[in-house]
Amino acid sequence: MCGIVGYVGSNEAIDFLIGGLHRLEYRGYDSAGVATITAARQLVLARSVGRIENLEARLVETPTTGTIGIGHTRWATHGSPTLANAHPHLGGRGTVAVVHNGVIENFQSLRTKLESEGYKFSSATDTEVIAHLIDSCLAKQPATPRRSAATGYEALVDAVQAALVQLQGTYGLAILFRDHPEVMLAARRGSPLIVGVGDGEHFIASDTSPLAGRTGKIVFLADHELAVVTADSLRVVHRDQGHIVHSIQELDLDAGDVELEGYAHYMLKEIFEQPESVANAMRGRLDLDAATAKLGGLNLTPRQLHHVERILMTACGTSWHAALVAKYQIETLARMPVDVDYASELRYRNPPLDRNTLLFAITQSGETADTLASLREIKRKGHPTLSICNVVGSTIANEADGGVYLHAGPEIGVASTKAFTSQCIVTSLLALYFGRLHHLSFEGGMRIIEQLQDLPDRVREALDSNDAVRKIAQKYADCNNFLYLGRQYNFPTALEGALKLKEISYIHAEGYPAAEMKHGPIALVDKNTPSVFIVPHGFVYDKVMANMQEIKARGGPIIAITGPGDTEAAALADDVIEVPEVEDFVQPIVSIVPLQLLAYHIAVARGCDVDKPRNLAKSVTVE
Ligand code: GLU
Repeated sequence: MCGIVGYVGSNEAIDFLIGGLHRLEYRGYDSAGVATITAARQLVLARSVGRIENLEARLVETPTTGTIGIGHTRWATHGSPTLANAHPHLGGRGTVAVVHNGVIENFQSLRTKLESEGYKFSSATDTEVIAHLIDSCLAKQPATPRRSAATGYEALVDAVQAALVQLQGTYGLAILFRDHPEVMLAARRGSPLIVGVGDGEHFIASDTSPLAGRTGKIVFLADHELAVVTADSLRVVHRDQGHIVHSIQELDLDAGDVELEGYAHYMLKEIFEQPESVANAMRGRLDLDAATAKLGGLNLTPRQLHHVERILMTACGTSWHAALVAKYQIETLARMPVDVDYASELRYRNPPLDRNTLLFAITQSGETADTLASLREIKRKGHPTLSICNVVGSTIANEADGGVYLHAGPEIGVASTKAFTSQCIVTSLLALYFGRLHHLSFEGGMRIIEQLQDLPDRVREALDSNDAVRKIAQKYADCNNFLYLGRQYNFPTALEGALKLKEISYIHAEGYPAAEMKHGPIALVDKNTPSVFIVPHGFVYDKVMANMQEIKARGGPIIAITGPGDTEAAALADDVIEVPEVEDFVQPIVSIVPLQLLAYHIAVARGCDVDKPRNLAKSVTVE
């Protein structure tokens, strides 16, 4: 959560900072702010509550100059989203400026200590503690500015490290020093941070999106690393290992990927990108000669994988729903047991695990704090760990023993759409791969491959429902409760459809296994509570139809997602959305498309801010 940017070079920093914050706004939008150091060596702040456009308006009144600067867009954890709590925060009497992503758990005791040293606090944030603490550590050092510059800013590095060791919790930090206007420091523990290497300039950002169009040369910082960045130099120091040399990774960052390109919202753009993102998730990964999947990044031999007896999948939110799809797929096609655990529970649960258990951590961003903690916990116990991530070079992708990237391109809409369908493609590939290692025949493998190859077209056809879905959305936009019901493979689809609606329209929605609703939620059914049934042709079709009858008998409106030309379901439902026919194991990938569109159009009809829903942010990097 939260976006951090930084610039040092020969151009006006504010141009990169504002452009970068716009691209990071999906990570938090409670408030925004920048700090620069002017040619007159003044450290100046500009901050505003709410969106980046408010900050821009503020900067029109009072322009900010300087060729070095840091910026922040906040997702508040400590203190409400007010101007006083907006970052950057100043330390001492304006000698240090800090932007922070994360949570400092011991901020209260540090604050008390700093107050006793005479520091005055002007915000309720945990972040301000860091700024004053750095100032306090600097003040306690005998170093002179001359010595600092001559020795690579040792005094600054020492002071910041002395402050960081006192912090409990997580941080991504960018730091400016009024008296050293040519250098900025960046540090991380548990929150992502990268450095972009330009020509006579450097950039800091909490993900790669601000760098598109600026540089593709990236250094990914790891936990406990501190980057000392000037226009022409970059030095990385590790807390325990001292100076370390990072290789610069070359990424192909396409500015178009992070622009709206004519769509009203990123979410809609990303929904419509799915035929392509689904194709990209399987590109080069289908082995037609052996009727299996080729997954180069697993870093485990077929023999090692053959010995895996149990799979544990951990994730949060939408990725957890993809894990649930994976459970149905892998258990059916590969006959291997799969457990699915919320990462926030798994990290503290200490479950007994069989020796031959393999962990998959599923996360779009690769930075989800709870998923990372679970991965570390299970890895520490000696189990092999693999990741399924979208963001290349992300912490979880780096820390897992291996993994599979989604190649979905940047997902900016806070409500995940294309990442979900790509995750389900990757899990289909895993089911195919493990199936072929065990019981699945060549012919069975080929049938799966043919289904997968057809999917981009089937998803394209599912998108044709857009106009019909918009009309249905307008009809039901005033309802305040929805049920989403499906069975087997489409139970996770129901959960995901309900989550989309909740996230962006703030309507209460519950996803349930269709038969389970009799054990409670059916009490909610009345003429103002629509039930969205996912009832394509498939092996539980008759069962779901019977559940539909039960809702109908109680006067609840029914929206049915059906196979093509299903007159039986149409006779029962009030509204019908047809999706193409595919085999059960890939059904969620097409059935979710109209549910994403339904949530989108209902949110638009209710005047909600689709890409920046209240209280949410992309990439949950706090526990
Ligand atoms: N904990 C800090 C605050 O509440 C940083 C939040 C963030 O990551 O945006 O200001």
